[in-house]
Amino acid sequence: MQKLIVIKYAELNTKKANIGLFLKTLKKNIQLSVSEEVTINYDKGRMYLIADEKNLPKIVEKLQKVFGIHEIAVGLAILTNDLDEIGAILIKELKLKEFQTFKIETKRSDKTYFMTSPIINKKLGEIVLKNLKNVKVDVHQPQITIYVEIRKTSSYIYFETIKGLGGYPVGTLGKGLLMLSGGIDSPVAGYLAMKRGVKLEAIYFDSPPHTSIMARNKVIKLAGILKEYQGNIKIHCIPFTNLQETIYKEVPKEYMITIMRRMMYRIASIIAHKNNCKILINGESIGQVASQTLESMNVINEVVKIPVIRPVACFDKLEIIELAKKIGTYEISILPYQDCCTIFVPEHPVIYPQKDKCEEYEKLFDYESLIKEAVAKEVIIRPLEENEELDSYL
Ligand code: ATP
Ligand code: MG
Repeated sequence: MQKLIVIKYAELNTKKANIGLFLKTLKKNIQLSVSEEVTINYDKGRMYLIADEKNLPKIVEKLQKVFGIHEIAVGLAILTNDLDEIGAILIKELKLKEFQTFKIETKRSDKTYFMTSPIINKKLGEIVLKNLKNVKVDVHQPQITIYVEIRKTSSYIYFETIKGLGGYPVGTLGKGLLMLSGGIDSPVAGYLAMKRGVKLEAIYFDSPPHTSIMARNKVIKLAGILKEYQGNIKIHCIPFTNLQETIYKEVPKEYMITIMRRMMYRIASIIAHKNNCKILINGESIGQVASQTLESMNVINEVVKIPVIRPVACFDKLEIIELAKKIGTYEISILPYQDCCTIFVPEHPVIYPQKDKCEEYEKLFDYESLIKEAVAKEVIIRPLEENEELDSYL
């Protein structure tokens, strides 16, 4: 008998053709996320993680940040599927617990096992009732549920399950480039894309001295939180000052934001292509600001061919905030440092921009050279590590 962690990956079971890649990635991601030494085995719909018993609680905590896991349980592996032996071990375990009502839920992965699940429930239930005083079965609201899994040559018992994050293991769908600003929406968008198995790189448009180092620090911190879900995250920091100042000088005020965002999209698309990222991801939400009306989205989006995924497009701000709080980015996002979208904001940005006007204004300056220069001056920065202070960040 051995204590171990049972990992269930329900949604992955539907990916019949790709299951090999999914499981390999999940296993790799688990190994990356837990620093302790572990052994991971698979068996039909389950992974079993074996580690030093004292490390199990810490590992369970880490597993709650791994996408692709549906449920986690700390259980006992029994090297037989003989009911009397399972019963004996179960009684020993139950004697350590306080309860009056219980239920047994059995699952057989070995369908050739000579008893059906309801019969196993009944037999084990009888063993419990015979050996423990003052307990009874309650199938509706039991104080303890005893989960029993019968496998070909072994079995598992556990008493509690913890919900995992679900989704797909990060990386199974390839890479995407997240446009990461210091705001509330984009980290949430990144989180949701990771949940669908997309590994993130991030791009940040930096406009010093108009934006302070504090704004960039927010991005470094936010990326540090997102990184917890995927191992590491590469941040492409793009110097945007020249482009922004030129737009400010040359473009009529009401079109400044539209043109600026067209430039961001163009640069992001180049960086994505260079780094094998298959999609852009951003935190745009329909109707949130002038640059996020359907008309704006059209004229901004039309400068790139790469798909642009907007995971929070249909969320209310309050829903986005709720998720930001859950993943721990909210408190950082609300720190009051402006980024390049909040400076130079005209009083009346155009709400229904026109494509030919954008093209006309873009002829007023040599944006292609400015984009080339910005891409050439890209700096790769790293996210803040857990427990690292910004003072010691280089
Ligand atoms: P956030 O969405 O992060 O809260 P926001 O609400 O201020 O920022 P906008 O400024 O309209 O939104 O920007 C929309 C999206 O464009 C952002 O969600 C982000 O994906 C991207 N974006 C904006 N500014 C930057 C920047 N400086 N660097 C990278 N991406 C940016
Ligand atoms: Mg926003």
